[in-house]
Amino acid sequence: MKKYDYLIVGSGLFGAVVAQRAHEQGKKVLILEKRPHIAGNVYTEEIEGINVHKYGAHIFHTNNKEVWKYVNQFAEFNRFTNSPVANYKNELYSLPFNMYTFNKMWGVVTPEEAAAKIEEQKTAAGITEPKNLEEQAISLVGTDIYEKLVKGYTEKQWGRSCKELPAFIIKRLPVRFTFDNNYFNALYQGIPIGGYTKMVENMLSGIEIIVNEDYLENREKWDHIADRIIYTGAIDAFYDYQLGALEYRSVRFETEVLDKPNFQGNAAVNYTDRETPWTRIIEHKWFEFGTQPKTVISREYSSEWKLGDEPYYPVNDEKNNQLYEQYKRMAQQEKKIIFGGRLGEYKYYDMDMVIASALKMSKQILEKN
Ligand SMILES: Cc1cc2nc3c(=O)[nH]c(=O)nc-3n(C[C@H](O)[C@H](O)[C@H](O)COP(=O)(O)OP(=O)(O)OC[C@H]3O[C@@H](n4cnc5c(N)ncnc54)[C@H](O)[C@@H]3O)c2cc1C
Repeated sequence: MKKYDYLIVGSGLFGAVVAQRAHEQGKKVLILEKRPHIAGNVYTEEIEGINVHKYGAHIFHTNNKEVWKYVNQFAEFNRFTNSPVANYKNELYSLPFNMYTFNKMWGVVTPEEAAAKIEEQKTAAGITEPKNLEEQAISLVGTDIYEKLVKGYTEKQWGRSCKELPAFIIKRLPVRFTFDNNYFNALYQGIPIGGYTKMVENMLSGIEIIVNEDYLENREKWDHIADRIIYTGAIDAFYDYQLGALEYRSVRFETEVLDKPNFQGNAAVNYTDRETPWTRIIEHKWFEFGTQPKTVISREYSSEWKLGDEPYYPVNDEKNNQLYEQYKRMAQQEKKIIFGGRLGEYKYYDMDMVIASALKMSKQILEKN
């Protein structure tokens, strides 16, 4: 007799959903988490009464009603709407590109004038077959928006000139001819009141969790403890990088407490010039309309990733995708281990997508056992 029905490696959203669903159905579940805390990358930590998004700003948005209903069982969501501001050498612009942006950029007042301005710049650039990201962006939004709002930011994100980046990275750039600063088109959007950690704590209520425990360091011990293992760590690490390491882009955060109530008046300000070394500053209190006397800000620096760094964004180019496919084939041979989540599947997942995927997998495995 095994002690547990399910061993879940990782307490991020993927692991938490599967654990919650299995526990709800009376299964015995153990979660192992190598970090000192639960919740994976959506972890929020309270500093000066403010919920700080420790692994990057997380805004929940979805069109999936089932997922929205699911998360609302564990948290009440506020009415936060993502409306980032772009700072280009101290000129401030609304994002995503919309009538406020166009009015500030060119003084145009009507949607027709704005559309004509963009068309004029696209035509003047004369690009028919974009050869790189710069040409692709100009052919989509014209030169002014590209120069002030796309170029510097993208170059900082990728650590390379837009001329050297492939065109396919930008398939489209959202342009709105309305006065709508809402970044997402989602039906449902918000931040869990009290922070994401509280939400995940509620999901995991009654479930055994061991933190500071790396499954890969003590595999023999853990493999015998459960009938099935749900592994949400990195797939290449699971196989000890025997075919090579999958690549990521990383982000470095510099977080500061400031002795003032308001630093920038918005949750996210993107620095779109090339010279400012950070890509964004997040002021965490505005995710929850904070009234605290102090404020906490995080500067985000996009960085190259090397083995041992925190992996954030998978680099889904051909080379890495092929490598992942090889690992995936190995994973499919495993009898009792199932891989899931952003690291297990080497895939960028928004939170709603990772929850939907975990709900689907839970249904499949719980129906079988
Ligand atoms: C900077 C950034 C910003 C984002 N912003 C948004 C946003 O605004 N909106 C949105 O919808 N999505 C956003 N996302 C996506 C979101 O973070 C993911 O969808 C979600 O966190 C994925 O959950 P997961 O469980 O797959 O992975 P994770 O949260 O990474 O969880 C995996 C867990 O497994 C643990 N683990 C790994 N290996 C082991 C091991 N060997 N032993 C034990 N434990 C292990 C890890 O410590 C981690 O806790 C953002 C992502 C990033 C990188």
